[in-house]
Amino acid sequence: MIEIQGKELYSLVEELYPICRSITGDGVRETLRKLQKYIALTTHEVPTGTQVFDWTVPKEWNIRDAYIKDGSGERIVDFRKSNLHVMSYSIPVRQTLSLEELKPHLFSLPEHPEWIPYRTSYHNEQWGFCLTHQQLAELRNEEYEVCIDSSLEDGALTYGEYYLPGEIADEVLISCHICHPSLCNDNLSGIAVATFLAKFLSTEARRYSYRFVFLPGTIGPITWLCLNEAQVEKIKHGLVLALLGDAGPSTYKKSRQGHAEVDRIVAHVLQHSGHPYKIVDFSPYGYDERQYCSPGFNLPVGNLMRTPNGCFPEYHTSADNLDFVKPSSLADSWKKCRSVVETLEGNRTYINQNPKCEPQLGRRGLYRAISGQAERGQQEMAIFWVLNLSDGTHSLLDIAERAAMSFPVIKTAADALSAHQLLKEKF
Ligand code: ZN
Repeated sequence: MIEIQGKELYSLVEELYPICRSITGDGVRETLRKLQKYIALTTHEVPTGTQVFDWTVPKEWNIRDAYIKDGSGERIVDFRKSNLHVMSYSIPVRQTLSLEELKPHLFSLPEHPEWIPYRTSYHNEQWGFCLTHQQLAELRNEEYEVCIDSSLEDGALTYGEYYLPGEIADEVLISCHICHPSLCNDNLSGIAVATFLAKFLSTEARRYSYRFVFLPGTIGPITWLCLNEAQVEKIKHGLVLALLGDAGPSTYKKSRQGHAEVDRIVAHVLQHSGHPYKIVDFSPYGYDERQYCSPGFNLPVGNLMRTPNGCFPEYHTSADNLDFVKPSSLADSWKKCRSVVETLEGNRTYINQNPKCEPQLGRRGLYRAISGQAERGQQEMAIFWVLNLSDGTHSLLDIAERAAMSFPVIKTAADALSAHQLLKEKF
């Protein structure tokens, strides 16, 4: 089994941090190329203008440089220092403007004067700069030279997909967004955890097939769902991964179904993690679960995160940086994701082969003559629960919940009983 360390997850975040991503363009392609060093993902290019349900694949945006120069020719706002300085999807511009003319194009955060906000304008063709409030306050009444060397042209929407076949065609979907520029928790933490989860699963025996998608937010899953509508019914469980690197406790937002197997499994994993956590009901706002859980699909896809979007001041600002995400939080999120897939894989239903009274466990070495060790006591208790509830109507997760024991303890008991022919899987 591969053990993933926080520093590996963190170094992938570091590697992807400088790239200027948006919902289309070369930043997304470069990001996916870097992920291909870890997993053999396939990239897809969907042409501008493709109709996807009620939406149209937009023009492709690329940027080379951008700045605001003051009267002395100094770059006082410089894209090369932070790609957040340019509003994403800004149309090209080269102009000399007065401060009054420039101001409607400038965005800052008065409440956090040292941070640069993150702004986008995907659907209105305009241009803008984001800067710290301190920078804004220092602007004098003079002429400014403004340059955004960008292009907004017909091209493609790029996304990445990594499919791992399992014993059965039923799929687990793991989805993350890849459309934010230098923001760490929002997009890079999810990308890193998903990539290492995929790498881990590629070396494991798999019952389910797994599909990892790396997509621009909103338009990405809409495009993917539209192009893959015929296969969507194979998705039996799914998770959107985002915001997995901050120091806050894990938060799970349930699927629209609310009581899907994945909802119960994530809740179970968090409950037995030994850490504080929060579970919240589905709402039609947030990340790409909005599309997967739209009524026409209603897929069992939840959203695992730490502190939710909009609930931390660094959200969508330059302060969501390499200091804000922690290797230990990334590692903890990764471990929880691994536990979720291990539980999904192991959650089977069995039938007790000796249902009339208890089988004699001592004779089989399943019950120790000398008791007393707490851990062994728990394992024996798990054996009794599994034997009693394995009547073909309770899954191992049902039993773990009912016995208030962790899934791995129940699974170990079921494995031991199966090895002694006391249990048979129900298909
Ligand atoms: Zn975001």
